[in-house]
Amino acid sequence: MNKGPQTNERTEMTNFKFVSQLDNHTISKYSRDFIRDKLAFCLGHHEACANYAGRSKWLPRRVIDVGLEDQDFVRLVNGSEIAEVSSDAPYVALSHTWGSARVMQLTKETMPLLKSGIQCQQLSRTFQHAIHTTRDLGFRYLWIDSLCIVQDSPDDWSEEASKMQDVYKSTICNIAATGGSDSKAGFAFLRDARNIAPFLVQATWKDISDIADPIMQEKLVPGLYYCMDFDFWRDQVEEAPLNQRAWVLQERILSPRTVHFAQKQVFWQCRQQEACETFPDALPQWSSPATALWSTWTNSTSFRKQLDELKSHGQNIAPPGTRANLYASWDKLLKTYTSCGLTRQEDKFVAISSLVKEMQSVTGDEWLAGFWKTQIIKHFCWRVEWESIYLTGMMAQGERLPISRPSCWRAPSWSWASTNLPVAFHQDTMYNDLSYVSEIKEVEVTTLKSGQIEEGSSLLLRCFLHAGEFSRLEKSDLGRHTVVFRFNHGNYVRAGLCFDEYLDCPVEQLKKVYFAPTQQSFSGELRSRSVFSVVGLLLKSAGEENGVYERIGSFSVAVPSRSDLTFMWVAGHRAETEFEEFDGNRYTIRII
Ligand SMILES: [Zn+2]
Repeated sequence: MNKGPQTNERTEMTNFKFVSQLDNHTISKYSRDFIRDKLAFCLGHHEACANYAGRSKWLPRRVIDVGLEDQDFVRLVNGSEIAEVSSDAPYVALSHTWGSARVMQLTKETMPLLKSGIQCQQLSRTFQHAIHTTRDLGFRYLWIDSLCIVQDSPDDWSEEASKMQDVYKSTICNIAATGGSDSKAGFAFLRDARNIAPFLVQATWKDISDIADPIMQEKLVPGLYYCMDFDFWRDQVEEAPLNQRAWVLQERILSPRTVHFAQKQVFWQCRQQEACETFPDALPQWSSPATALWSTWTNSTSFRKQLDELKSHGQNIAPPGTRANLYASWDKLLKTYTSCGLTRQEDKFVAISSLVKEMQSVTGDEWLAGFWKTQIIKHFCWRVEWESIYLTGMMAQGERLPISRPSCWRAPSWSWASTNLPVAFHQDTMYNDLSYVSEIKEVEVTTLKSGQIEEGSSLLLRCFLHAGEFSRLEKSDLGRHTVVFRFNHGNYVRAGLCFDEYLDCPVEQLKKVYFAPTQQSFSGELRSRSVFSVVGLLLKSAGEENGVYERIGSFSVAVPSRSDLTFMWVAGHRAETEFEEFDGNRYTIRII
């Protein structure tokens, strides 16, 4: 392999040392030395990593024995066999995306071959690079999902999927094929090193008198300036092909440390530090996933920090706000998670179940089909983030719409897992004077060991319930519509609707839709006018027993004054088939 230039000297730039001359590919001697140095320093000196990511001696049921440096074959071994001869056998785990490439997998048929030993060349390029990296780091064992879980055994798959939390928490280091979109991509990418490290430009700043900001004008003095991509971590790691996959989110958060093999360079991430080949000592603050501006919405790093912080208090009472911050981060994490792709639609709850267990162990909270019991009243009025479908790359302009509903039953309609689309929650901190106007009386959910839930889950809601029809469509864009809604009791309201799936008919053709308001708030002044708003669920009759409904979306109504919506808080006349109970004020209905 071409070794490229080997100067790799560090240059000083306003408190940061950086390497200006990288090699022309990403698994050079320099990048391998960089990974070894970071791992050795992390294991030996990082206090945060020792406290929160201490080495566990737990071993997965099966691992790949990568053997020695010059060996050209590897074999599948049982963790219990290794434990018999060694009390401390660290293993490396791989995060990768399968893509459409057909690669060697562990099946009932290939098990004897993999156990007796298989030539490295018979494995995919990504697996071969993972084997070399494991040996290079001085370790003997490697865990790869598709080679360590029997892919054609539902029982083995279910059992091993339930241990994913331990697999990633106990690994010595996670190696991530971050830049590859399938198993053939490998870790090695050619790069133009001149575009990666900061480079100097002579700036003369012409026509700065057009710049309105005098402080900015003052800063633009002629001279030598460093230029570089400001958001290189976000572009190369967060938005890389691998991190668009749902399974990978928990792998990355649970691992004590991760090496990201991205397309332009290798990145390091552990509990205490982020670094990369260009900034091997530490990342500048402006690009770090812990502190950069963009990290507020792509925040797996801050979620992990908050999880660790709450864990560190153990049985003691954590400082005020710690739990609330963790839950707020979780909401954002779910937004990221629901934007990611899944190969098997039935994995929606499974691919996040390890993080759910982590949260449960720290908060003691109960998980109900995608919601925390203590938070469900705030969150079950989630909404599809139609505006982010283009942004997250789920659908490039002009491409086909992603299929919004799973082909098999996966979750009740009131759960965000009932749609394939990205979702977000209404943030209660954005509102003043917020109150909940419905009450969740009962949630019936059975969660299986794999994280999936049993069909038949339902939620019993005590709420105001208004039937009506659309009298005028004002605006329509993907799943969002602004309509005038005519209630059966004669009142009209202008409402924003957000559907949970693409409609297969024009919105104005929908008949007999129900509004179930869930929260009201006074949002303060908007363009010098006060705004009173109500949000809630958009329902349709499930056409089964009395009072059974399905969620089809959410609505929001904003008016200048509370008195404009007094009719919302009056029980309309409902036929007996439309509810289970009526207390003279609100109806009790079941949502499935
Ligand atoms: Zn560390």
